[in-house]
Amino acid sequence: MKQLLRHEAPALAITLVSAILVALGTGNWLFGLAPFPFLVWWLYLRLLRLERWIEDGMKASEAPHDEGLIGEILRQLQRRERGSAKRKKRIDRLLRRINSQIAALPDATLILGPKLEIEWSNAPAQQLLGIRYPADRGQALGNLLRNEKLIRYIKHPQGRKPFECPSPLDPQLQLRFRAVPFGKGQRLLIVRNISEQKQMEQALKQFVAHASHELKTPLTTIRGYLEMIEDEPQLSPTGRQAVQVAGEQAGRMEALIRDLLQLSRLDSRSLDPDQGEVLDPVALTRELLGSLPDPELRQRVHIEADPDLQLRGLQLEIESIVQNLLDNALKYSDGEVGIRWHEEAEGEILLEVSDQGPGIDADELEAIRRHYYRGKDTTARQIQGSGLGLAIVEQAARLHGAKLEIESDPDRGSCFRVRFPAWRNLRKKEKPQKILRL
Ligand code: ADP
Repeated sequence: MKQLLRHEAPALAITLVSAILVALGTGNWLFGLAPFPFLVWWLYLRLLRLERWIEDGMKASEAPHDEGLIGEILRQLQRRERGSAKRKKRIDRLLRRINSQIAALPDATLILGPKLEIEWSNAPAQQLLGIRYPADRGQALGNLLRNEKLIRYIKHPQGRKPFECPSPLDPQLQLRFRAVPFGKGQRLLIVRNISEQKQMEQALKQFVAHASHELKTPLTTIRGYLEMIEDEPQLSPTGRQAVQVAGEQAGRMEALIRDLLQLSRLDSRSLDPDQGEVLDPVALTRELLGSLPDPELRQRVHIEADPDLQLRGLQLEIESIVQNLLDNALKYSDGEVGIRWHEEAEGEILLEVSDQGPGIDADELEAIRRHYYRGKDTTARQIQGSGLGLAIVEQAARLHGAKLEIESDPDRGSCFRVRFPAWRNLRKKEKPQKILRL
């Protein structure tokens, strides 16, 4: 500070002395103000030089020479500029490193702008999607890929599963697209070649279907012989018990094979919206209920439904949806089980199967949809099953364009809902809905 004042002091002193001399010489103190505009003008010129230098990019070689207050401002600015140049260099280096790492990823990676225009892409994007960078920079992804469903997914990926479809370059290549929103409306798009994984899944499915089919006939023969032996009057009590246990186990294997075959049939089927028979879901449910072997089980079930409902679908598949949900509700709970068929305001048909059982832990609600997954509590309670029931329900529902929703409260029980789209509903619109307890 002292240093600064020392540099500015001569000019201030000269102005002050001139002001006093002028005032004394003229005998008027007001004339003493005359030298001050020169001081202001001199300061203004120095500031102007500083401003020009800032405007021209603050080059160190062109810095104006000034030892006073302005010089100090200039030096402070230079120090900051040097700091931010260093920071900029560091960030540039970091960005270059990140860029080269992303570019080296085996997955195609794209950065898309708010209108899904290409901002950046790596080399695999050219191999998998035919997108060339930088030639295609600024192009809308929709114009290059021409897949409306995919573009809709990239726009709204939140809460949705990754999108899978063949590559636009080679239909033999199966791709999985995963979009992640970031920045201001931007998207990070990662595309993986999953052809090998898909082929392996397909091979595994074929093997399971083939093995199940091959096991079916010998198992039926074994069951037949076991039933014959069980009828033998000379059989000892121990022998009878052994045959019974063997018969039960063979029955379990038959049920498992039945489920596996049904799943593989469902996997390979597709159903157009106008395909399927006209079904009476309520009559179908009552028939299933009537076929329950144990009358006590039947008494636990209550149906509430609109008897006029009509659904376009596949009978065996709709039956297996109701059957699997009903079997589970009876198996996992002791109390009343409710089956409800009704129409929603938008014309969707809703099937609800609810129970008052122990419910399902929140952290298992997603896992129980997986093939072969059995709840921890279920295995601890030694309740038998294959872990395929809900997978069958989900596949059969998907075939009809329907969705399976699961709600569970450990205090109140579980509710499984299958929501069929309005285009599966064939009920006459003019007939008002009436829900009856059947
Ligand atoms: P499985 O019944 O053969 O085990 P599922 O696929 O039908 O196979 O069901 C998977 C798991 O979901 C079951 O093991 C069980 O833990 C749970 N689950 C299904 N339905 C119910 C229900 N109504 N109440 C409680 N848990 C259920």
